[in-house]
Amino acid sequence: LTQLFRPLDMLGMVYRTVRQGLIDMSAMFQLIDTDAEVKDAPGAPALVVRRPTLTFENVVFGYEPDRTILHGLSFEVPAGHHVAIVGPSGAGKSTIGRLLFRFYDPRSGRILIDGQDIAGVTQESLRAAIGIVPQDSVLFNDTIGYNIAYGRDGASEEDVRRAAEGAAILPFIERLPQGLDTEVGERGLKLSGGEKQRVAIARTLVKDPPILLLDEATSALDTRTEQEILATLHRVSERRTTVAIAHRLSTVADADQILVLEQGRLAEQGTHSALLAKGALYAEMWARQAAEREEERDAAE
Ligand code: ATP
Repeated sequence: LTQLFRPLDMLGMVYRTVRQGLIDMSAMFQLIDTDAEVKDAPGAPALVVRRPTLTFENVVFGYEPDRTILHGLSFEVPAGHHVAIVGPSGAGKSTIGRLLFRFYDPRSGRILIDGQDIAGVTQESLRAAIGIVPQDSVLFNDTIGYNIAYGRDGASEEDVRRAAEGAAILPFIERLPQGLDTEVGERGLKLSGGEKQRVAIARTLVKDPPILLLDEATSALDTRTEQEILATLHRVSERRTTVAIAHRLSTVADADQILVLEQGRLAEQGTHSALLAKGALYAEMWARQAAEREEERDAAE
């Protein structure tokens, strides 16, 4: 019977994985035991990251031949800097993340990490260098410990505990009678959105990647949990090159650089204060969201 249910379980997982904007591809490939349309070049070397700089060089991309989504996008993120990508729905924000993880190859232009074209290195080494905290994390129907250790082959229990501590979920785990051995998901404990995010953050900490990709990592949470998770993410992203794809501008104001994307083009670029001073698209978006926050506060009172 388990054999019958296993594929169904996998299908459910794949569905949930695909449904979220950006996905943990390595998890998904392992589940469906297949590979993407993108292939390693014969004899491709591994990516070697000494200084995790990230460069988009005139990247043109579309999912279909007759519809271009990114129209020659160029930007650079210095090692250790935090960049936030904002813009209206459909502007191409998540697409940038998918290209960075090499789910697809650009039609033209290049994406470089530490000066190496990601199309020319092994996908395994590329994906080992990038940690993703997606908006809706995929947890396996297994123990909490397994779900955290999944970040890296050979992670020890000590690694898992340290990561859980870094993600501020260790006290919660220690209160469970079976601790790290507690089953989660459909078979066991149901975790809240915030707890799931913390497990995903711990998984990323075990992986310890030089580059972090946060895909609206907190959008599914209530404001208080969001603030707490953001504080944790802030700590976790210190010293790592971080790309955050965001809807809510309140979560990106302290980024080193904000890229404002509009219909697949870079409309504006700068710090929060510089963009506000400019009084154009970002400033308008900020004013609109501030008014919405005000309304929400009034409605809550
Ligand atoms: P949102 O803020 O709503 O998540 P976004 O800025 O992240 O939007 P993307 O998800 O990058 O936008 O999508 C950019 C465009 O590409 C959209 O018009 C979308 O419909 C299209 N698109 C996204 N994924 C695919 C796909 N797999 N096949 C075809 N078109 C797609």
